[in-house]
Amino acid sequence: MQLPPARPISQEEVQASAFTALGLREQLVKAVLQEGYDTPTPIQAQTIPHLLAKRDLLGSAQTGTGKTAAFVLPLLQNLAATTVGLGAVNPGAVALNAAPSRTAHKVRALILAPTRELAGQISERTAVYGRHLGIGHAVIYGGVSQHRQERDLARKPQVLIATPGRLIDLMEQRLIDLSAVEIFVLDEADTMLDMGFIHAVRRIVSLIPAQRQTLLFSATMPQSIEKLARSVLRNPIRVSVAPVASTADLIDQAVCFVSQADKRALLEQMLLSMGIERALVFTRTKHGANRVSEQLRRAGIEAGAIHGNKSQAARERALGQFRDGRMPVLVATDVAARGIDVEGISHVINFDLPNVPEAYVHRIGRTGRAGASGRAISFCDRSERGLLQDIERLIRKPIPVMPA
Ligand code: AMP
Repeated sequence: MQLPPARPISQEEVQASAFTALGLREQLVKAVLQEGYDTPTPIQAQTIPHLLAKRDLLGSAQTGTGKTAAFVLPLLQNLAATTVGLGAVNPGAVALNAAPSRTAHKVRALILAPTRELAGQISERTAVYGRHLGIGHAVIYGGVSQHRQERDLARKPQVLIATPGRLIDLMEQRLIDLSAVEIFVLDEADTMLDMGFIHAVRRIVSLIPAQRQTLLFSATMPQSIEKLARSVLRNPIRVSVAPVASTADLIDQAVCFVSQADKRALLEQMLLSMGIERALVFTRTKHGANRVSEQLRRAGIEAGAIHGNKSQAARERALGQFRDGRMPVLVATDVAARGIDVEGISHVINFDLPNVPEAYVHRIGRTGRAGASGRAISFCDRSERGLLQDIERLIRKPIPVMPA
């Protein structure tokens, strides 16, 4: 990945940085300062020193809290500490022209993510945070040709970011060997379980040495996650940031009582009249996402859909257009939207209410990031009143009603 040039950072800036105080080495501190981070987020401040000391971690945090840097920075530092000749060469560059090798490649760190979007974002962040370190990484996920991923593996990356299905595929083809993994990160473990990856995860864990550092992150901590945590973690530190309910407090929320049949017209009217810069619209089904985005386009509103049935290329295209502002409206399903990190989402609109109340909090958490104000508007049909009550119970407050 080609990174844009970054501004020079002085020794004094590095020395004075709160990231240095957490124990991070110069190359990493430089990289985060170049990203414009000046203060560690709470999860970073609470976890980085422990992770540098190689403790296991059970982290309750969702996207938007800075959790990626919280695990990627210490992971890179711990690997760098035992990498010979670090900084002299870029391991990625050495084998650029090497033919794909058929010997199973041993990685030293494995980051498992439930969706390709999240895996892609972690990979992008790893490139950014590791820009001065020269520790190679590769990302593998399903839905795209294996060829490029094979070529990336032939460069012998130390860090592998993967979704479970494709990882198992490549292990079965003897392209990846997990027997030398020292650091294992399980990100968005709750989504992983929701998506039915538990057996895949257990199988992967069984192939990693027991002697390792393990980090497990999950936005929610149901019994099933606690159980998984007990089986994979050893004496972990526990860190919890922005619990589900308090995230919801920061966002300006409203509910509109509207019949299913009138939702479409209401959405169009809102998008046209409210000066919405960048709106993420949620539907319950993939079919619904397609239908709503088509209807919006017919009404002259630039909109795209993103869900599991779309090809990787189509999803990346839609996300790219949404991110750079060419397409102000993106219609998504819950699973597809997890892990999407697009800044400046002015509105989240729940065209349908989610079946699971926690999903409401994940959805609205997409707006109002990093201190920016955001609005979340939910459409509620008569048949969805029960779902609304569940949500209000979870966030422990009523959602103000907005006239339709
Ligand atoms: P994450 O929760 O890892 O998805 O991060 C959410 C967003 O916060 C990303 O856009 C990061 O670039 C940004 N971020 C992470 N750490 C910091 C920090 N210490 N200061 C400012 N922004 C940050």
